[in-house]
Amino acid sequence: MSDNLETLYQQPEEAVIARIRALRDELGERVLILGHHYQREEVFAFADVSGDSLKLAQQAAATDVPHIIFCGVHFMAETADILTGDHQSVILPDPAAGCSMADMADGAQVTDCWAQLAGVLNPDAEVTPVTYINSTAELKAFCGDHGGIVCTSGNAERVVRWAWGERGKILFFPDRHLGENTALAMGIAPAEMVLWQPGKPLGGNTAEQLKAARLILWDGFCSVHQLFQPEHADTMRQQHPGIEVLAHPECSRAVCEVADFVGSTEMIIRHVDEAPAGSKFAIATDLNLVNRLRLTHPDKPIWFLSPMVCMCSTMFRTDPQHLLAALEAIAAGEPGNRIIVPKAVAEPARRALQRMLDLG
Ligand code: SF4
Repeated sequence: MSDNLETLYQQPEEAVIARIRALRDELGERVLILGHHYQREEVFAFADVSGDSLKLAQQAAATDVPHIIFCGVHFMAETADILTGDHQSVILPDPAAGCSMADMADGAQVTDCWAQLAGVLNPDAEVTPVTYINSTAELKAFCGDHGGIVCTSGNAERVVRWAWGERGKILFFPDRHLGENTALAMGIAPAEMVLWQPGKPLGGNTAEQLKAARLILWDGFCSVHQLFQPEHADTMRQQHPGIEVLAHPECSRAVCEVADFVGSTEMIIRHVDEAPAGSKFAIATDLNLVNRLRLTHPDKPIWFLSPMVCMCSTMFRTDPQHLLAALEAIAAGEPGNRIIVPKAVAEPARRALQRMLDLG
């Protein structure tokens, strides 16, 4: 831990918050703070723009401010850096804020998968690679180089439809659940999908299975959302008759099948916003977001779907002390913890992101 951070942890939290407020005012339009919905409340309160990955990526692409502080995780800051100009800096307050799902697929593994597919079919003519935005810049670059695209949980269906329009098969990584839930909602049969397990020959499939499949799902998942179980929905329905179960599509197929509504964080928020007073919800996504919805909708009883705490620990790493340290570094003219994607990776990655943004 840096000396500065250590000093900040010794100060009372109110002093840290007051200093953030003062510096935020002082830096004015030189800084934009983007905050993901899963951020803790004390940090989220300082977000100039809040949203899910899609909204924040669009915001990063549209802004010209010199410094963007991304209160989120590493892949989000990478995406912002790819979409912003060289004169802008993108700062991740805690560089250790990663994503366990993004770590489940790397460039070498996906390149190896593509090479193995080439032994069975002609992937550059038959397979569109689609990466969830929760992935490294390297994987976005892979998609850019191979006619592929990026998706988010908010636009997955539109992107997947586009990808099938390009080529007959899709290789979807790293989240098997988002790929599977999206395809099922589009009417694709389970028999048309196979799972690619990295490290196994042909991902654990036969050549015939790969030739027949329309969707090849990478065996990755979110360690937070996989904790929700369908029995949690049963329990909630028994305890609170009339309750609606809302699930994020990173949850397993079994959970999404029993949910009343499946959607991205933005969709879940809109669904709750638009519901009449008295509506009851049990929500399967990160606890910080569920707690915030509870606070902002006192007229609508809201429960967390799981009896266990499911919170993204890496999102939680960004605390007021890290945010203050980032602001202080900018004020001193030395922005720290910059996320810089090398040009050779950023250019093809931007192509894949732009394809997504062009879909609207
Ligand atoms: S909630 Fe899951 S997918 Fe989202 S950042 Fe955390 S680990 Fe990654």
